[in-house]
Amino acid sequence: MKNISVIGAGTMGNGIAHVFAQYGFQVSHVDLSNDRLDKALRSIASNLARQVKKEQLTEGEKQAALDRINTYVDLGPGVAQADLVIEAVAEDLDLKRDIFKKLDELCPPAAILASNTSSISITSLGAGTKRPDRVIGMHFMNPVPIMRLVEVIRGFGTSDMTCQAIMALSRQIQKDPVEVQDYPGFVANRILMPMINEAIYTLYEGVSGVEQIDTVMRMGMAHPMGPLQLADFIGLDVCLSILKVLYQGFANPKYAPCPLLVKMVEAGFTGVKAGEGFYVYQNGYKDFTVSPRFN
Ligand code: NAD
Repeated sequence: MKNISVIGAGTMGNGIAHVFAQYGFQVSHVDLSNDRLDKALRSIASNLARQVKKEQLTEGEKQAALDRINTYVDLGPGVAQADLVIEAVAEDLDLKRDIFKKLDELCPPAAILASNTSSISITSLGAGTKRPDRVIGMHFMNPVPIMRLVEVIRGFGTSDMTCQAIMALSRQIQKDPVEVQDYPGFVANRILMPMINEAIYTLYEGVSGVEQIDTVMRMGMAHPMGPLQLADFIGLDVCLSILKVLYQGFANPKYAPCPLLVKMVEAGFTGVKAGEGFYVYQNGYKDFTVSPRFN
């Protein structure tokens, strides 16, 4: 594989484009507006510069990686040469199904279509195309240039060949792929989201405060980040939509999203990206204090 198209230039899309460009692939980056694509390129440039500072890359390698990224606001030209497309648009089934249908029509017949979805059924995305054997989940973790895991999700129709190709490709970009079956939440979020939801219930029921809950999990369980801070980092809206997929997919009340989470998303306090969630963020995700609403 040489040509990778990345659809969506948000948090995950820009990390995915960064990593493929860094490892020598030609990247076509597609989003709805040049503004979003420019913002993503600025963010990739600044993240590559950080790697130069840490002596992980040379200035020349940084520039070469940036030169390998081309941007498009039209899907057609953005995927015309693709060997692999990785979709990283918002976590919305209808939106993703629509994009997969279009990709199926616009991409070369041999191209593999992957989704970076956190929880949506790969089987259902594949079923909307004429190539379910070449549809797969490639679930990167945030921040993509740093986190090594890729959850590789086999849909009901995904072929062995597609799965092997994506496992091999993940290793080529220095990631550690793990193959999982396509059931709600896969493995990562099926385990992580109930923990985050329980942390929010613990706060909601007044068992303890924001800082205290996070401290217990950081200091007691050696988690690098407490669950409430992690929820802010992931985005409370993303957490809520994954919990809804688990709740509906298993028809089990143990996955019911905490009413406090629902209320915060309704209010627009979705975490780092909104500047406020359980914490208030001044200047990026590293500079935060507990939200006065929870003091
Ligand atoms: P985001 O909101 O930051 O970015 C989504 C981007 O998609 C936006 O730039 C938007 O303009 C673009 N977009 C929307 N419709 C489009 C279309 N029709 N064509 C092209 N671009 C379009 O979202 P994100 O946090 O990067 O999440 C993307 C996907 O990755 C979701 O499925 C999410 O569940 C998954 N994911 C997120 C995380 C995380 O921590 N944020 C981690 C793993 C997986």
